[in-house]
Amino acid sequence: MLVIEKIQELRKTLTGLANRDMKVGLVPTMGYLHEGHLSLIRRAKAENDLVVVSIFVNPAQFGPNEDFQRYPRDLERDQELAEAAGTDILFAPEVGEMYPEGYQTYVEVTGGVARRMCGASRPGHFRGVATVVLKLFNIVEPDRAYFGEKDAQQLRVIRRMARDLNLKVEIIGCPIVREADGLALSSRNVYLNQAERKAALILYRTLSRAKELIEIGERDAAVLREQLIKTIAAEPSASLDYLEIADSESLEPVAKLTGEIIIALAVRIGTTRLIDNMVFRL
Ligand code: AMP
Repeated sequence: MLVIEKIQELRKTLTGLANRDMKVGLVPTMGYLHEGHLSLIRRAKAENDLVVVSIFVNPAQFGPNEDFQRYPRDLERDQELAEAAGTDILFAPEVGEMYPEGYQTYVEVTGGVARRMCGASRPGHFRGVATVVLKLFNIVEPDRAYFGEKDAQQLRVIRRMARDLNLKVEIIGCPIVREADGLALSSRNVYLNQAERKAALILYRTLSRAKELIEIGERDAAVLREQLIKTIAAEPSASLDYLEIADSESLEPVAKLTGEIIIALAVRIGTTRLIDNMVFRL
């Protein structure tokens, strides 16, 4: 596995590769790798000839009062995990390499898919995400790029950008990897103390409750939403940021559950904000 910090060097390495028929898979991450990330890397390895993994904690997608400074970082451990999962090139640029002095250009998906949910709670977040992802696409020129359904809205914003800007890259969504008890893996789970770790199960419990209610025939979004909000309120250390029942692609809220819908939520446990979701085909 090569570890590369400079854009020029990465470009040279990629163009210098003898066989241009090679399919390149890209897995963008912010590092502090866990099984969720590794599942994306393994899938990319299985479907491509060359796998590039980026590790970049992107300041542009953090708000001024968010956790950019304290976001967990461990490049040494990440290198071992990335290599074992099949990474060929690990791209780990410094902030100044991606946003050199004088940097002034941003990409923004302006419609509802980026404005709702996390877009409303975290102004500017998806602008930062779209910008860094488009930069990575331009630097690596991958055939395929892999994103987790864990960040369902991010995946839909990137799909929208790729379609709207006629990008050649194929965007591939990968299933959520969970702990044995249901908690979705996230680099931010390390912020949770023991009590908070238990309380964090409220996200999966709420989604499981939704699944039960849908299975017994509930199709009214308002009724379902009320039940789910009650479930969350029963966990004293959880504070709800949002819970949406929406069309799975556009993320427009629905009144009736039909077709493919997503239930997505963001909950604060102490100072840690966690997100999760489930998609239902009805
Ligand atoms: P992050 O490092 O949190 O920006 O995540 C990098 C990529 O890994 C994103 O496409 C995430 O959606 C994906 N990812 C993070 N957690 C999980 C998980 N539990 N299951 C599947 N994919 C995940």
